[in-house]
Amino acid sequence: MDNSLSSTSLGASSYSLPDERGRFGPYGGAYVPEILVPALKELIRGFSEAWQDPSFQLDYHDLLGTYVGRPTALTFANRLTAKLGGAKIYLKREDLCHTGAHKINNTIGQILLARRMGKTRIIAETGAGQHGVATATVCAKFGMPCIVYMGSEDMERQQLNVMRMRLLGAEVRPATSGSKTLKDATNEAIRDWVTNVRDTFYIIGSVVGPHPYPQMVRTFHEVIGSEVKNQLKKAENRHAPDLLVACVGGGSNAMGLFGPFLNDPSVSMIGVEAAGEGLDGLHAATLTLGEPGVLHGAMSYLLQDEEGQVALAHSISAGLDYPGVGPEHAYLKDSGRVTYVTATDTEAIEGVRLLAQTEGIIPALETAHAIAALRTLAPTLDRNQIIVVNCSGRGDKDMGTISAHL
Ligand SMILES: *Cc1c(COP(=O)(O)O)cnc(C)c1O
Repeated sequence: MDNSLSSTSLGASSYSLPDERGRFGPYGGAYVPEILVPALKELIRGFSEAWQDPSFQLDYHDLLGTYVGRPTALTFANRLTAKLGGAKIYLKREDLCHTGAHKINNTIGQILLARRMGKTRIIAETGAGQHGVATATVCAKFGMPCIVYMGSEDMERQQLNVMRMRLLGAEVRPATSGSKTLKDATNEAIRDWVTNVRDTFYIIGSVVGPHPYPQMVRTFHEVIGSEVKNQLKKAENRHAPDLLVACVGGGSNAMGLFGPFLNDPSVSMIGVEAAGEGLDGLHAATLTLGEPGVLHGAMSYLLQDEEGQVALAHSISAGLDYPGVGPEHAYLKDSGRVTYVTATDTEAIEGVRLLAQTEGIIPALETAHAIAALRTLAPTLDRNQIIVVNCSGRGDKDMGTISAHL
């Protein structure tokens, strides 16, 4: 496959991973039933051709502008900066995207690709329901049938998102096996794809899954970091910040921000995982405490029990409550290019309050983990240094959880 995919008109980096087998060092690859190998090859070719086609770029950027609302603002957080002392903090405002988070950058890209490849039916799986909503949204916009698999336990916990998906015209199918959560929904989605592979496109919601999904999803989100480059030039006459910070669930909002800066050694990067109740209790700190293993069709770090079975993750934020992580993050951790730290549930709640009361922005609980990490990071830099933190989503969806903890 052509690995110059990310050095395109977006001005993204020439960082050259994955290799042609979809590997980020030892991670990534495609651990799928043999029957899906031709479908993945078709997808590799389809994506590569589309991304290099100016008419695809035009459609993608037109929708990002007129439907998603891009470019999103880069906001100088003056009161947060003053409060924490140290580096100047800027917020990349993905909370201002249509549907309230970054996820739609990717679903727009994938549904355009599905249409171009002649697929007529969309499937997805969702844990908390946020990716399900982003997928149902673009399916409504494109008039395509949409089936979302969701663990029946998760459907119980996330009823509002189930209602949103149904209102948008999607069919939500419960996964009732195993723990009745995300990994069971993923198994159901893969089973559906195997059965209907000719006409069906599987939209995956983060930089996870078999090759080429991690690379493709990163590429669709790199518009985030590319905009930051232009916006920082205007605001500060600087080509890059000193430090980038983003929360990491599967890792897509982080890769979208980090990707265009990976080749610039002057830029440090920190990913923030969910430490849940604490690293000695229930958590979702996959890179910090996991071991390499295979989940969702790729090799990466993974939370496992003593028998090597996938362990249940926990985070107060549904979007970080995932036992795996994208394979590129596993590689970036081992190589030392990105540093990964953690924030607990309690610190995330404090992060919500901090951003709400200094900047008038109520962040999603996922985003609040990145905000929480700023408390210790910002004071270590000096006043002429710049941090850009990805404000991945807005907190309206979390008001129930937040108010229960305040
Ligand atoms: C889903 C979600 C995340 C976590 O997903 P990534 O793939 O790690 O970005 C983070 N923030 C928000 C607001 C989300 O909805």
